[in-house]
Amino acid sequence: MTGGALRLVLGDQLSEGLAGLRDLDPARDTVLMAEVEAECTYVRHHKQKIVLVLSAMRHFAGALAVLGIPVRYVRLDDPENSGSLGGEVARAVRDLRPGRVVVTHPGEWRVLEEVRGWEAGLGVPVELREDDRFLCAIGEFRAWADGRDGARMEDFYRVMRRTHGVLMEADGTPAGGAWNYDRDNRAPFRRLPPVPQRPAFAPDAVTRAVMAEVETRFGGHFGTLEGFGWPVTRAGAVRALERFVAERMPGFGKHQDQMASGEPFLFHALVSTSLNLGLLLPWEVVAAAEAAWRAGHVPLAAAEGFVRQVLGWREYVRGVYWARMPGYAATNALGAERALPGFWWTGETAMNCVRHVVRQVRDHAYAHHIQRLMVTGNLALLAGFAPGPVNAWYMTVFADAYEWVELPNVQGMALHADGGVMGSKPYAASGAYIDRMSDYCRGCAYDVRDLAGEAACPFNALYWDFVARHRARFEGNARMAPVIRNLDRMPPARLAAVRARAAAVLAAMEAGEEAVPALRG
Ligand SMILES: Cc1cc2nc3c(=O)[nH]c(=O)nc-3n(C[C@H](O)[C@H](O)[C@H](O)COP(=O)(O)OP(=O)(O)OC[C@H]3O[C@@H](n4cnc5c(N)ncnc54)[C@H](O)[C@@H]3O)c2cc1C
Ligand code: SF4
Repeated sequence: MTGGALRLVLGDQLSEGLAGLRDLDPARDTVLMAEVEAECTYVRHHKQKIVLVLSAMRHFAGALAVLGIPVRYVRLDDPENSGSLGGEVARAVRDLRPGRVVVTHPGEWRVLEEVRGWEAGLGVPVELREDDRFLCAIGEFRAWADGRDGARMEDFYRVMRRTHGVLMEADGTPAGGAWNYDRDNRAPFRRLPPVPQRPAFAPDAVTRAVMAEVETRFGGHFGTLEGFGWPVTRAGAVRALERFVAERMPGFGKHQDQMASGEPFLFHALVSTSLNLGLLLPWEVVAAAEAAWRAGHVPLAAAEGFVRQVLGWREYVRGVYWARMPGYAATNALGAERALPGFWWTGETAMNCVRHVVRQVRDHAYAHHIQRLMVTGNLALLAGFAPGPVNAWYMTVFADAYEWVELPNVQGMALHADGGVMGSKPYAASGAYIDRMSDYCRGCAYDVRDLAGEAACPFNALYWDFVARHRARFEGNARMAPVIRNLDRMPPARLAAVRARAAAVLAAMEAGEEAVPALRG
């Protein structure tokens, strides 16, 4: 290929229309794809995440080859594999002598920094292209957010709806007259009719080979591969999206904030793994939701609730990430310093809600939004677990975790570590919220109605301790005013008992003694 372009495709850039693949000349250019140890271990990713990415990469390379595109594919077990991305690019440049290297903007700051350093060492130009598989470019988001006091998601979402003409009437007003139908999305989940099964994709020969390799190389990583069922090809991802729209989307809106024992997926779309790899593109997901509503298949509240997640939240968190990095990763506005207790990995805790979520992520590398935000995220916020280990946990346990989307959700939304960039008020809640949104409390050793007793739900005391600890920070915040008023109404002796209970809960967690079974006898 001497003189042509070496086109690097990263593990989460598996889209045929990728910017870095445009204008490709199969007679002169070569695509480079490399499985590298460093990317599997810089965080000890869930085994399902590694299998998902490597299997999807192998399938994608196969699809390019069918199109007649030359691909240099480096497997993990290649004896000459250098183990790092930079090492593989350098080796390919040495072997193939390209005239330039073309790279599509990586999804993580860490990798972007690495790519920026390549040109000097390689001796050939490195062309960095914008990743346009998003509905809002990085620069566009910056231009919108710059100078705006409180660049909130809800405002951004309206701009995106207008710009892309999604769920809009011809006169420029939102479909149905409102931008947001959350008030219609609060129905309790009563298990009848049953939730349609999620489509599970039985591993094919390629995936099975990767599974065996991952067990050998990364057997000590978190999670199990049993029941691996993620789509690993574009065709599978499209099928999964179609099944969601046809079967579960009608129930998506009204139950989206619910949690239920034995129902890890409920009515959620399970499209984040495919979107984040590039097997699906956000505009086709959004278009499918809008089409389902226009065809009368799903209510507007379901379509709007779903569109808000993809067109709104997903684009917004990416914008925040690139506008705020690298400093964003180090934010710790609430001075949270506690170590993460061992039960975050084992699930061995008497807290039924936490046990459910940890076991679910071990088995499926998945938890839905409210489980991530209001169970584990909420506990981390209230207890004051340090952002570093909390982020590492989220990056490790989920099949859809990439820093651009994980970090703002954890730093900003769950931990309020960014001091209010993502939300004016922390997502803090006592056990009553979890009780209202799930059936977990009914099966729990703790008593969700008790505040300070020995068997009281830990979330209750931790909640008031959190509010008391951060009273000075939040007292000027209008959205926190009712909470502060309730705190101030608590008799001092009661508050002291609650805070003593919180201290005991935290000490027991620290000592690894929290998992006391059947506290209520
Ligand atoms: C603490 C925390 C950590 C998270 N970490 C990740 C992560 O590592 N990777 C990830 O993709 N999502 C993350 N999310 C967002 C969200 O929880 C997942 O996208 C969603 O649960 C994926 O499941 P689903 O495809 O069934 O989503 P659905 O509930 O069906 O939603 C549809 C789609 O909307 C998008 N979406 C919804 N909410 C968000 C959000 N807050 N940010 C970005 N996209 C959103 C996703 O692409 C998702 O696939 C996190 C949320 C929280 C609160
Ligand atoms: S009682 Fe508390 S710890 Fe137990 S499930 Fe309910 S919220 Fe979780």
